[in-house]
Amino acid sequence: FREWETKSTLTTCPYCGVGCQLELITKGNQVVDSKPYKGPSNNGLLCVKGKFGYPFINHPDRLKTPLIKKNGKFEEASWEEALNLIVSKIKETKEKYGANALGGFTSARCTNEENYLFQKLFRAAIGTNNIDHCARLCHASTVSGLATTLGSGAMTNSINEVLDSDVIFIIGSNTTENHPVIATKMKQAKKKGAKIIVADPRKIELADKADIFLQIKPGTNIAVLNGMMNYIIENELYDKDYIEERTENFEEVKESLIEYTPEKVAEICGVNKDDIIKAARMYAESDKAGIYYAMGITQHITGTNSVMAISNLALMCGNVGKENAGVNPLRGQNNVQGACDMGGLPSDLPGYQKVFKEEIAEKFEKAWGVSLPREVGMTMSEILDSVKMLYIMGENPMLSDPDINHVKHSLERIDFLVVQDIFLTETAELADVVLPAASFAEKDGTFTNTERRVQRVRKVIESIGDSKADWQILMEIMNKLGYPQKYRHPSEIMEEIASVTPQYGGITYDRIETEGIQWPCLDKDHPGTKYLYKDAIARGKGLFFPVYHTGSAETTDKEYPYILTTGRVLYQYHTRTMTGRVEKLNEKVPESYIEINEVTANKLGVKDSEKVKVTSRRGSIDIKVKVTDIVEDNVMFIPFHFAEGAANYLTNTKADSAAKIPELKVAAVNVEKI
Ligand code: SF4
Repeated sequence: FREWETKSTLTTCPYCGVGCQLELITKGNQVVDSKPYKGPSNNGLLCVKGKFGYPFINHPDRLKTPLIKKNGKFEEASWEEALNLIVSKIKETKEKYGANALGGFTSARCTNEENYLFQKLFRAAIGTNNIDHCARLCHASTVSGLATTLGSGAMTNSINEVLDSDVIFIIGSNTTENHPVIATKMKQAKKKGAKIIVADPRKIELADKADIFLQIKPGTNIAVLNGMMNYIIENELYDKDYIEERTENFEEVKESLIEYTPEKVAEICGVNKDDIIKAARMYAESDKAGIYYAMGITQHITGTNSVMAISNLALMCGNVGKENAGVNPLRGQNNVQGACDMGGLPSDLPGYQKVFKEEIAEKFEKAWGVSLPREVGMTMSEILDSVKMLYIMGENPMLSDPDINHVKHSLERIDFLVVQDIFLTETAELADVVLPAASFAEKDGTFTNTERRVQRVRKVIESIGDSKADWQILMEIMNKLGYPQKYRHPSEIMEEIASVTPQYGGITYDRIETEGIQWPCLDKDHPGTKYLYKDAIARGKGLFFPVYHTGSAETTDKEYPYILTTGRVLYQYHTRTMTGRVEKLNEKVPESYIEINEVTANKLGVKDSEKVKVTSRRGSIDIKVKVTDIVEDNVMFIPFHFAEGAANYLTNTKADSAAKIPELKVAAVNVEKI
């Protein structure tokens, strides 16, 4: 890279799961601008993060050399020294306690190739399935729910199909702030005549555009969905032929819905019964209706059941396997779909192939030349509570996970902690060894966006300092462990992925040069799949699964009289590792705040911008008040991005029993004026 040379390189946005294509403009080894590109999912659009969020790449805070903690302080070390220490600790831990005493968190921020190598390191080189990642906190319930009812836990349709939907039903997704380009497309669809239904505890921006807005109480998703289905069944608005031909178990679900009358549901959800009826009619009477959801559905102890309720509704009205319709979980981070696809889960090898199935395990043993463990590994919170050695690649549980006090305690308990990241995060501060990783702009690879599209990530500049691409670090560790890996370029890792992962069977770097390909792409001649289940649902027939409203783990009482819910804002991303170092984004939302309704604020005697103490059963924070009508009386909201006033000191670790996803969306709290 010549210092005076200006260049433009096409790559994929590193922030959310929309997967916008952009051109990074460089001068020498500096990224100096970002321009929108007409990619298949963004069509020339970018949100503020894609446009202005690049300065973290060359930020002076970037980690430039490995660090080893000695006497409580980090000291710079060589790669040789740091990697030798890690490898000796892996061997020592395994020898002393067995392979299951080790665990790893792979990363939705890293490429597919890196996620593939991370699980290969743990499964093949170390011998444990103790691998998990942040999908455990966001869409694990999508994977478990849709795998049960449809056979695959991914967005059934494509982003651009929203433009030609008749009805767009958004439930538990603040799309404007979390998937801004998709929200823009929803608004474009509205201008073309689509109707919008929004169900959410907060009056989000899209609620203003909605034809029907159901401001439901937190934790009542299943009730509202069942109420809509009750009305659809009572009034015979369901698709009889579709149900007959393409589904099973309808009668059981029909029976289960009898008690969910609109009157009863209106009371549970705190909404008007006529609006539930209108929403049910609007959804059922349209030809092409798509459901869009995110963590407002999944981050509950009833997450898996809520996902299955969505699936029931879509199947009932024949909206699965149809263009411009479907069940569409909006995946949060840029590569959370890919991290799941690549086997970053304790039960799944790449392509959701189960670790405990003998023929699958044998297939991978042959491909990798090792024997593999058959027992399902531990999930994130179980790993945190149990292992002796933990390797975290590009995750920051000290801010992103519920009950931070408990997370800190768990991380401090672990004998040896390795963190591989681009900045010294709150989690890295607690590590024994920190490895400096290259950012997305310094490496080649692929990300898979929310619509299952595998797209290229391109090397734009040379690595900052002595940082290395995650795939190179992982390869070096495997080599040092005596399990030699010889990839010269990530494209060779993709060749291996394609050979063992049916959905990625036909994906090569040559084929995804411009447009990307949506999986399933079974072989080199397969064009990829715009929408799923056109001819057949993955599990054969769509399964109706009865689910019931059971509420949240915590309810309000005298001591904790308010409900807290959490989420994101447009200008920040996740734990602010990246956006926190971008001035233009920081100046918009520089600090944490709690949204409080005017009625509640009056009861508490607090005004806008004053400080309050918020306490839950797990912890307490001081935070600035934002008085707003976005939330209803007695419901409050805190964005979880900030270290100061971190919402996750308050959130609940109680988890969905199937997906083990914690209930980040509902905690009972008390609020006092300071
Ligand atoms: Fe990046 Fe998502 Fe914004 Fe697109 S919508 S520019 S992918 S953050």
